[in-house]
Amino acid sequence: MGALQSSRALGLSARAPVLEVFSSLQGEGRYAGEPQVFVRLWGCPLRCRWCDTPGSWRLPDEPRARVVRALDGPRREDGWASPFQVATWIAAAERGAARTVSVTGGEPLLWPGFVRGLRALVGPRRVHLETAGAHPEALAEVVEHVDHLSLDLKLPADMDAPEPLAGSAESVPTSATEWAEVRARVLELARGRDACGKLILAGDRAPREFRAILDDVAAIAPELPLFVQPVTPMNGVPAPTNEALDELCELALERRLSVRVVPQLHRTLGIP
Ligand code: SF4
Repeated sequence: MGALQSSRALGLSARAPVLEVFSSLQGEGRYAGEPQVFVRLWGCPLRCRWCDTPGSWRLPDEPRARVVRALDGPRREDGWASPFQVATWIAAAERGAARTVSVTGGEPLLWPGFVRGLRALVGPRRVHLETAGAHPEALAEVVEHVDHLSLDLKLPADMDAPEPLAGSAESVPTSATEWAEVRARVLELARGRDACGKLILAGDRAPREFRAILDDVAAIAPELPLFVQPVTPMNGVPAPTNEALDELCELALERRLSVRVVPQLHRTLGIP
């Protein structure tokens, strides 16, 4: 393989629209509390009713990136960035020591080449991927290039009709049946890896609505640690009761799954 082909295979030339790069604490899932650098990308076709980053959904004509540098604070940069450019922003966002890099969104699987390329350029840092799990083909492309996979296991009823981005390579599931097919494929990809599944519970949902998801985890990836995340109330979506959280845990335990309740830490601390 020549140098140019090798560079393309690694995704080094794949640009992605970057919304922001900043340091903070991981607020969710298996690594909650870990100091990380976040790389948030523009674009998401899904419409979760409790989304806390709706500003990331639509790709602007000329995306701009907010890069929060440890030394001199935020700067605005051209958002279409290469993995190399983003690797320099990550280093600038750190106070000194290298941190784990969390690639998030929006939906980062819209830009799989970029994710692969970034992995090749961030040295010893771990790369974590946060995804809604709606794009199994893209996930298959990147899963060997990330060190941790944080996978949302969403109720289809918690999403409004998707709005695919123009030019998206992979279609988005719309029905419960399509979601079940996609979920099976992404759980296959998560099996045996450093990964976790997040079950986001709203106060107006019954824990039993997660039964099909829990059955799939038990059948396909029974070692996957599950994190029940109570919705932070927003957009009129209420938080669940403690009884509902306990009931959802019980449904997971009945299936011999590993489960913990972890509220959004960054919301509790009031940090980005
Ligand atoms: S997948 Fe994430 S970014 Fe997209 S709508 Fe849902 S919560 Fe928001």
